[in-house]
This record gives sequence, C-alpha cells and structure tokens, in this order.
Amino acid sequence: MLFIVSGPSGAGKSTLSQKAVEFFDDIGFSVSYTTRAARPGEINGVDYIFVDDSRFDAMIKNNEFLEYATVHGKKYGTAAKDMEELLKTSDALLDIDVQGAEQIRAKRKGGVYIFILPPSMKVLRERLFKRGISKSELENRFKNAVDEIKKSELYDYLIINDELEESEESLKAIIRAERIKTGLLKDRIKTLFEF
Ligand code: ADP
Ligand code: 5GP
Repeated sequence: MLFIVSGPSGAGKSTLSQKAVEFFDDIGFSVSYTTRAARPGEINGVDYIFVDDSRFDAMIKNNEFLEYATVHGKKYGTAAKDMEELLKTSDALLDIDVQGAEQIRAKRKGGVYIFILPPSMKVLRERLFKRGISKSELENRFKNAVDEIKKSELYDYLIINDELEESEESLKAIIRAERIKTGLLKDRIKTLFEF
C-alpha cells in the first residue's frame, strides 16, 4: 500500500510521517531525490538524496522517476526503482507535494491520500519562521500554501495538525482502518474455509 502525505510547507508532514514510520515497523519511508540544499541536521540518504540539477535532469531523461515536480523553485522526485524495492518488503509512506500526488493518482490505483493542514495560517507562518529559513523563502513557501491548500479537497483524509499527539493518533487510525478494508482481506476470508 502507498500512504501519500501532502500539505503546505510547515504543516507538519515530516514530523507526522516520521512518527508513523517509527510506530509501524512494516511501513518504510520513501526517500526522495531533491536539488535543494540539505538543512542542518538532515542526512543524505535518510531525509533526502541530495543531487545537483544535472543529475536530476539525467534521471528525468532516463525515465527514472515515478513522479517528480518543481516545488518552491527546487526539484523533487520519487525514483521508481527505489519505490519498487521498498514495496517488496513493506508498505510505503511518501511525503510529496500535490503535483506529485496527482501524478501517482493517475498511474496507480489504491493509494491512500492524506492532507495535513495547519490549524491557522498564523500558526503556519510561525512554524515556518522557526525553521530559520530566509525571509524570501518563507514568503515563497507561505504564498504557495494557498494553492496547495486548494488541492486538499482531492485527498481522502484531512488532518488538522493542532495538537501533535492527536494528529499522530489520527494518522495511525487512518493507516489501521485502511489496512482492514474488506476488499484487502478477501483472501483472508477464503482461508477460513480451508479445513
Ligand atoms: P513540513 O514537513 O510539513 O514542512 P515539519 O514537520 O517540518 O513540516 O514541521 C514544521 C515545524 O512545526 C517543525 O518545527 C515541527 O517541529 C513543528 N510542528 C509540527 N507539528 C506541530 C504541532 N502539532 N504543534 C507544534 N509544532 C509542530
Ligand atoms: P521540504 O523542502 O520542506 O523538505 O519539502 C518541500 C515540498 O516538497 C513538500 O511539499 C514536500 O512534500 C515536497 N516533496 C518532498 N519530496 C518530494 C518528492 O519526491 N516529490 C514531490 N513531488 N514532492 C516532494
């Protein structure tokens, strides 16, 4: 299964995704490629695979991405091969933007689409400010939030990330509920009669 998490920058996607991946040992985090610079504390290969423009463009040319997009002026993408590998052993959680989510929706059935909203635009700005990015980057990300939030209606679930613990519980509840949908368990029902 694919769990796709989107939302405006600063809404809490990374925080919540990390918590879910830590909690469910059978969900792996899909590590994206990006041309943006690493932030302090970010680890190459863990948070992202940091590459330059020419490497990213070569990957586009070689058709290596399941999806990719330019977000806040930098390129981000999910490598198809990495995703295949991940799905061999676990479900996958992807923290990707609304454009990437639309590309996956067009290609694959059965993804679970979760949108993270901030409790208010004021709080979103404060969370972005705390990140210590430049004023122009903050303004750019804040401006883009409006268009991203408009796309939230296309998602299956909305989590309004006010109290962190409550949001964590909501994300876990979504994952648990999606995993016990009847359609997925049909084979399990059949096994009950194998005696
Ligand atoms: P995103 O990945 O959506 O850009 P992050 O997960 O990096 O957002 O969160 C942005 C900032 O907000 C971080 O400093 C994070 O610790 C903080 N944050 C996330 N969720 C909450 C919450 N529910 N309450 C308070 N702060 C939060
Ligand atoms: P950040 O720079 O804050 O880590 O991420 C900026 C935006 O890029 C976020 O909306 C995040 O979800 C998105 N993003 C991260 N990885 C990918 C990816 O592989 N593909 C797409 N389309 N967006 C991504």
